[in-house]
Amino acid sequence: MAVSGRGPYDPQNVFAKILRGEIPCRKVYENEYALAFHDIAPQAPVHVLVIPKGPYVSFADFSQTAGDAEIAGFTRAVGHVAGLLGLDEDGYRLLANMGVAAGQEVPHFHVHLFGGAALGPMLHRG
Ligand code: AMP
Repeated sequence: MAVSGRGPYDPQNVFAKILRGEIPCRKVYENEYALAFHDIAPQAPVHVLVIPKGPYVSFADFSQTAGDAEIAGFTRAVGHVAGLLGLDEDGYRLLANMGVAAGQEVPHFHVHLFGGAALGPMLHRG
């Protein structure tokens, strides 16, 4: 079910549980600002989620309330993960769903990193 992206932050959301080690993930990378792990239902040959360590509901929340060091550290981590996955040469797509219109389901800010194939049009045109 889609969530508003406006909070308040729910510490029982699935990504908060992954950050606390309460449920497992297939980890790709971790540093003080970010954790990257494989999406449980991949929609491309490479489909990795990168999440900040802090409790941000959505991109709106993160961009408005995170500190400069967190924003810089997180952004650099996303780029680092793309490189680790070998996607720099062929390219990749980043996507962040914010709120109901975008269909955000997990209320902890995350960036989807897709790659490993030609990814087609940017949006579904139904
Ligand atoms: P969004 O619709 O942008 O909120 O995307 C949420 C994503 O989280 C979906 O692609 C799900 O497949 C993924 N997801 C949900 N639970 C897990 C989990 N336990 N481990 C990895 N990915 C998950």
